[in-house]
Amino acid sequence: MAARRIDGKALADTVLEECRTRVEALAARGVHPGLAVILVGNNPASRAYIGNKVKACGRVGVRSVVHEFPDTATQAEVADRIRELNADPSIHGILVQLPLPHPLDEAALLAEVSAEKDVDGFHVVNRGDLLGGHTRFPPCTPAGMMRMLDSVGTPLRGCQAVVVGRSNTVGKPMALLLLGRDATVTVCTSKTVDLAEQTRRADVLVVAVGRPGLVTGDMIKPGAVVLDVGINRTADGRLVGDVDFASAEPVAGWITPVPGGVGPMTVAMLVVNTLAAAGG
Ligand code: NAP
Repeated sequence: MAARRIDGKALADTVLEECRTRVEALAARGVHPGLAVILVGNNPASRAYIGNKVKACGRVGVRSVVHEFPDTATQAEVADRIRELNADPSIHGILVQLPLPHPLDEAALLAEVSAEKDVDGFHVVNRGDLLGGHTRFPPCTPAGMMRMLDSVGTPLRGCQAVVVGRSNTVGKPMALLLLGRDATVTVCTSKTVDLAEQTRRADVLVVAVGRPGLVTGDMIKPGAVVLDVGINRTADGRLVGDVDFASAEPVAGWITPVPGGVGPMTVAMLVVNTLAAAGG
């Protein structure tokens, strides 16, 4: 039997509807949530992601302002703007769209964002809180995936969860969130000797690598929940994930499509974090 699809777009719509109600409650208290986005350079993918974030904010009544810089912007120019936004009471959330062009120092600029406005959850304070098992701003992509797992009722306690990829933005925080829910977590990297051996044990399989078709159906445990984070563009212009959907769908129990899976939830969770920053 083919896997059921986890419809990230529909779930994101539900989350955004909840956000709209929270925005109204905030407005009744005289609080109007504001998000500032820093975009440096002209990366088309970054522009597209920001467009989706701005659109989602607009849908629920969160004010968003994009601060654009040319790719020649200096570290000091971007840092100064972040400091201005830190001090601006009408701005509750600040996100620095990654990747930043060379030679900007990504870690140093992320550290400039006030931990209270760090809606991406990338500040060292928030990362530390996540390590401690509680955080105000869980990183958006992993937070969205946890919500997806809950939406299909996946039992996490004691399950075997395998996360492929160890980026600071997706793989590592996802492993921590799963650990926090008592899953037994394995993290795989490019140095993992036999990837299939690991993935075949997974009740919950998260793939965040950036390599189309890395995980095929024969690497998946029958009935597993498969969350595909990858966003890859093929030579003919299609968007595909890291999981070979055609061979995985007949084996998995639940699977996220690309596009329309994890991506929309990432955007929705940014709005959720912005409302949390505004006190909603
Ligand atoms: P990243 O920083 O490029 O890290 C990739 C990870 O994959 C690394 O940890 C790397 O291992 C690991 N890896 C590479 N080849 C591997 C292999 N053959 N077997 C096992 N692991 C391997 O990735 P990222 O930023 O997390 O992004 C991953 C993908 O998700 C990209 O396609 C990105 O566009 C997409 N993405 C999507 C969303 C969304 O909302 N849907 C959000 C963020 C990212 P090493 O550490 O050993 O090098």
